[in-house]
Formats: sequence, structure tokens, C-alpha cells
Amino acid sequence: QIVLKQIEKSFKQDKVIEGLDLTIEDGSFTVLVGPSGCGKSTTLRMIAGLEKETGGEIWIGDQCVNGVEPGKRNVAMVFQNYALYPMMTVKENIEFGLVNRKVPRPERERLVKEITEVVGLAEYLHKKPQALSGGQRQRVALARAMVKSPAVFLMDEPLSNLDAKLRHQMRTELIQLHKRLGATFVFVTHDQVEAMSMGDRIVIMNKGLIQQADGPMKIYDDPDNVFTAQFIGTPP
Ligand code: ATP
Ligand code: MG
Repeated sequence: QIVLKQIEKSFKQDKVIEGLDLTIEDGSFTVLVGPSGCGKSTTLRMIAGLEKETGGEIWIGDQCVNGVEPGKRNVAMVFQNYALYPMMTVKENIEFGLVNRKVPRPERERLVKEITEVVGLAEYLHKKPQALSGGQRQRVALARAMVKSPAVFLMDEPLSNLDAKLRHQMRTELIQLHKRLGATFVFVTHDQVEAMSMGDRIVIMNKGLIQQADGPMKIYDDPDNVFTAQFIGTPP
């Protein structure tokens, strides 16, 4: 379980999140969705430890992680812009974190092989990122997160740079990957359709606050407030 308790975040004197409470269940596919600037990325980055909260507590499992560095939180972040190393091959990009942690070569080889098969990159191991399509790069970014076998995957608009066809395909692939790994996925998007088609729990944010957090059916059939209804497009 990830629990955010009364989280506050200010940038200088600008308060962007105030009194945010959120519980993310283990193994869930939780989607944070809301308009641009509502605080989705900031929330995700605070869970990852890449941004420091200015108030409140964040719990991952039975540990309060305030002040715990990102590498010690057992979470992996997958970004929108892939953030791959251009000079390294696909294989080197994927095993980078393992080399850093001094995982022995045979173990590294085994892990990289297994994971590249799962994400469909086995034939591309020796290519550089610039020789790959957007979807293939996104898979490298996913694979790079997967080698750490984290309990939690934090994904910030990972599909937004892809064309429509590939985006739809990757949605399905991510849903399957989630089932297969049994990990917790926290997925950020500003696209209502994407949110509703992927999440088993939808967290609707606006202006740094949660408007509603429920299963997609409940959100659609029985929105708690006007904002949720309008944002999701529930007929009145
Ligand atoms: P988008 O859908 O456009 O990605 P978002 O929901 O992810 O939006 P955030 O990036 O979390 O929004 O930003 C929330 C608010 O915090 C915005 O008003 C933004 O301007 C502000 N903000 C984010 N990062 C910083 C920063 N480093 N310095 C100052 N203000 C920031
Ligand atoms: Mg964002």
C-alpha cells in the first residue's frame, strides 16, 4: 500500500497541492487523471522521491519514506520522454542499473534476455535508441524499469509521444504486463479515455486536490461532483 497523508507541496510561495490524501492498493492499476497543471506529475514525483513534499507523510508499505532517497523506495519511474542514453545500445540502456548495482554478468544476461522477450525487443538489443521507433523506445524505458523488479511502477504519460495506433496497442500491452507482473502500476495521463480504459482505480485530480477516487464504472455511472461528471463526460 502507498499512502499519502495530508500532502502539501509549494514551489516558493506557490502552493500547488494542499491536503492531499490518497491510498494506492498493492497490485492495483491506479490512474491519476486531470487537466494540465493539476499536480499529477508533482504527486508522482513525490512518491518517487524526486520532489520533496513541503508537508504531510508518504508511506510505502510499513515505511514512512519522507526523506528516503529515490533508489531506496523500491519504485521505478517511467517517463514520457523515455530518458534513454543515446550513446548506449538498447542492451546497455536496459542493464545500466544492474551494472551500477554490481549484479554479476551471467545474472544480468539472464534478466535482460527474459525481459526483452516480454516487451518484444529481443531483436533490437544492439541498436542505438535513435534507430528505434517511439513505441520501441518506450518499451526500452519500460524494460529498464522492469530489470529492477520494483513493487511499484510510476509512469508519467508514458504513451503521450506515440501516434494513435501505437498508443492503443501499448495500452493493451501495459494492461497485460500489469497482470503478468502483479506489481502496482501508478499511471498518469491527462486523457480521460485512456484513464477509463486502463485503470482499475481512477483518481480524478483538479487544482491539486482529488475530486474522486473510485473504480471506472462508479466514476462513470455515479460521479460524486460536477467536475468529475464534466471531465469524464457522463451524460446528465
Ligand atoms: P500536465 O498534465 O501538464 O503534465 P500536471 O498535472 O502533471 O500537468 P504538475 O507538473 O504536477 O502538473 O504541476 C502542478 C503545478 O505545479 C503547476 O501549476 C506547475 O506550474 C507547478 N510546478 C510544477 N513543477 C514546478 C517547478 N519545478 N517549479 C515551479 N512550479 C512548478
Ligand atoms: Mg505532468
